[in-house]
Amino acid sequence: MNFVIEINDIKKSYGSVKAVDGISLQVKRGEVLGIIGANGAGKSTTLEIMMGLRQPDSGEVKVLGMDLSTSAEQIKQRIGIQLQQTALYDRIKVKEALNLFRSYYANTRDLNEIVATLGLEPYLNKYVKNLSGGWQQRTSLALALINDPEISFLDEPTTGLDPQARLELWGCINRYREEGKTIILSTHYMDEAQKHCDRIAIIKKGKLISCDEPKQLIDSLGNQEATLEDVYLQYAVGN
Ligand code: ATP
Repeated sequence: MNFVIEINDIKKSYGSVKAVDGISLQVKRGEVLGIIGANGAGKSTTLEIMMGLRQPDSGEVKVLGMDLSTSAEQIKQRIGIQLQQTALYDRIKVKEALNLFRSYYANTRDLNEIVATLGLEPYLNKYVKNLSGGWQQRTSLALALINDPEISFLDEPTTGLDPQARLELWGCINRYREEGKTIILSTHYMDEAQKHCDRIAIIKKGKLISCDEPKQLIDSLGNQEATLEDVYLQYAVGN
């Protein structure tokens, strides 16, 4: 099996808060993995550990077969990151941000193609800080894709987008998946996760409760009418 991510028993605490409490997970090349869980469950912390942005207190993280603790620089060239809030410089235009990020990488994707895919042409000469939240979100996605990453980590990529923009973003994610890229994302939208994710990881209070295909998770409830929202209510909330 070709795993692009292998995490083993990772733990991360902030004071007395166990944000991640012993999570092990493997992600296959070419899959779209959705991470779901309540606010504060530990999704972002888990993602940020996989991205190399946060150091776990213990546990191992292998990305693209390399140990994150010793090969972070090589790994960064081959992954893309979209955070919930991308802190872009105040006085920078979209085009300038794209060119700046392009300069960080040895391997880059065709900028015109990314701009066209995300519909960013009319915004290229606008200051990022003046864009609406949704267009800032698309800009940060464009920046995450600029190095043609083998793995993209997207933290709540569709939050704050209007319905059309959400559809377009999923179209974009599905195109990348067809190219064999791996996408790992967190989301609070169960309908989207059910429709588009190959597997869903459910995190609750820092622990991985289950990780399986949406259909398997839904079937586990034994109710023909059930949806992923019911799965969420069953497994991700409560004590
Ligand atoms: P959300 O859906 O609200 O984004 P999440 O599942 O992504 O939540 P995390 O952001 O990973 O959850 O947070 C997990 C826990 O760790 C929470 O209790 C949070 O308050 C805490 N936490 C996260 N980052 C920090 C930090 N830098 N300092 C202190 N506590 C933190």
